[in-house]
Amino acid sequence: MATIGFIGLGNMGLPMAQNLVKAGHTVCGFDLSEYASEPLVAGGGTRANSVPEACRGAEVVITMLPAGEQVRQVYLGEQGVIETVAADALLIESSTIDVETAREVAQAADEKGLAMIDAPVSGGVAGAQAASLTFMVGGFADAFERAYPVLEKMGKTIVHAGGPGNGQAAKICNNMILGASMIVVCEAFLLAEKLGLDAQKLFDISSKSSGQCWSMTSYCPVPGPVPSSPANRDYKAGFAAAMMLKDLNLAQAAARATRATTPLGAGAAAVYERFVDSGGGNVDFSGIIRYLRGT
Ligand code: NAD
Repeated sequence: MATIGFIGLGNMGLPMAQNLVKAGHTVCGFDLSEYASEPLVAGGGTRANSVPEACRGAEVVITMLPAGEQVRQVYLGEQGVIETVAADALLIESSTIDVETAREVAQAADEKGLAMIDAPVSGGVAGAQAASLTFMVGGFADAFERAYPVLEKMGKTIVHAGGPGNGQAAKICNNMILGASMIVVCEAFLLAEKLGLDAQKLFDISSKSSGQCWSMTSYCPVPGPVPSSPANRDYKAGFAAAMMLKDLNLAQAAARATRATTPLGAGAAAVYERFVDSGGGNVDFSGIIRYLRGT
């Protein structure tokens, strides 16, 4: 069992850290919010008051932070992880951030001889609580192998996507598919309504036909056909529209940087931006059907 420093105990980080405690690891958590670590401590973890304190004695350091800016600060800043961690520690960065920052931080770690992976997740808060997250991992093979037994305690599907930054690349490509597919599934249900085609009938046909996709079969944006989808609980998130917009914007930044042609990805980002600007940021991302309907 390892001694783990866990930085960022928010909606995702806290249950992930708690699962590591349950698995028998020694976990010391740090968050800027002083109360964030209370549930971790109540369950048998400990609390650090700073990044260096979380890194002290840690064999593994895991971060789960809002965005690239915080990741840069926590790793590369003065008294940051790279400066203060032990030379043989393993670094696992699980936030969803831009590929460029992920590669820059991985390079800084490599220059100090530290093993590091980027390991963003999908599965949301429910997946974090149930230890059933999917990890998309970028980094060198030896770091991936060392990280595997730790990731296994927080997730079910763990895929090595290639070198540094490739975990983030996989995450934004996947979520670009998801954002665009959700919009077009919503558009199809709205068009069906105008044409007098019952939503359940469209579902019965499309969920078994070539229009089939996750946005249709798992997160169906109209109430009824998929009882567990957020549409049946007034679009309570779930995966908030603001989070989807963040990921679509990361995909667009990457597309601009690499001159990739992504017109549907760009369109999806623009539609989610309007939804979020109109007050939909905290609504589940499938709630974009309300925006498209004009309500
Ligand atoms: P969150 O805002 O709930 O948690 C982030 C935590 O980091 C907060 O508690 C904050 O106080 C802390 N923090 C910020 N700056 C810090 C610093 N400098 N030092 C220490 N702590 C700091 O966010 P979340 O929902 O837990 O998401 C975390 C990451 O996971 C994000 O990158 C998000 O995109 C990604 N993600 C979230 C979900 C989801 O459904 N919530 C799903 C997949 C991926």
